[in-house]
Amino acid sequence: MADIAANLNSIAESLPPHVQLIAVSKTKPVSDILEAYEAGHRAFGENKIQEMCDKHDEMPKDIEWHMIGHVQTNKIKYMAPFVHLIHGCDREKVVKVVEKEAAKNNRVIDVLLQVHIAEESTKFGFDEAELTEYLESGRWKECTHVRLRGLMGMATFTEDTAQVRREFDALKRLFDRWKDTVGESFDTLSMGMSGDYSTAIEAGSNMVRIGSSIFGERNYAG
Ligand SMILES: *Cc1c(COP(=O)(O)O)cnc(C)c1O
Repeated sequence: MADIAANLNSIAESLPPHVQLIAVSKTKPVSDILEAYEAGHRAFGENKIQEMCDKHDEMPKDIEWHMIGHVQTNKIKYMAPFVHLIHGCDREKVVKVVEKEAAKNNRVIDVLLQVHIAEESTKFGFDEAELTEYLESGRWKECTHVRLRGLMGMATFTEDTAQVRREFDALKRLFDRWKDTVGESFDTLSMGMSGDYSTAIEAGSNMVRIGSSIFGERNYAG
């Protein structure tokens, strides 16, 4: 059994102050999330909308829920009333549906655009050309109920730290390139997981998404 509070505290203490920790609780029971909550943690990440909604119903309402997974557009309506930040906006269609559902809820929803930086084709996201086209077009400005807060990316799953670093550096360069165009709200670079967050922080990440190092290994791939 993982000592969740101890893991959480030691990771939190090791992070530079400008880096926010999202505790990734996907597949883990509410009792595990409560342990982290009681240790003072409030930001949790889930990768399935239905699971996040169920946990939101059961858990204290001051939790910030982060959707870090691939987003099915027909389910956005379920999280629109409460989601804190959607990391996985991996195509324009997602942004448009978030806009529609945010408007219905009289909210402005914060999102990150997910960029495909890994070698693996299984990972989702805008590629560099699509991101450039989308941001240059200005179409995102029509979504007045969506606030573009930054970028998110996942590196290749590999022991090759140099490759991981190159991929994170590439995302940081894109982030810096678009910061001035989008404006002041574009301040979040979400990159780094249990296996690679130190590398991500060296490359300029200011938000890390950490699951197994806090809650222990998951029983099934999330
Ligand atoms: C599962 C997941 C994480 C956390 O992974 P760990 O290796 O358990 O830290 C981070 N980001 C995303 C997008 C994930 O799906």
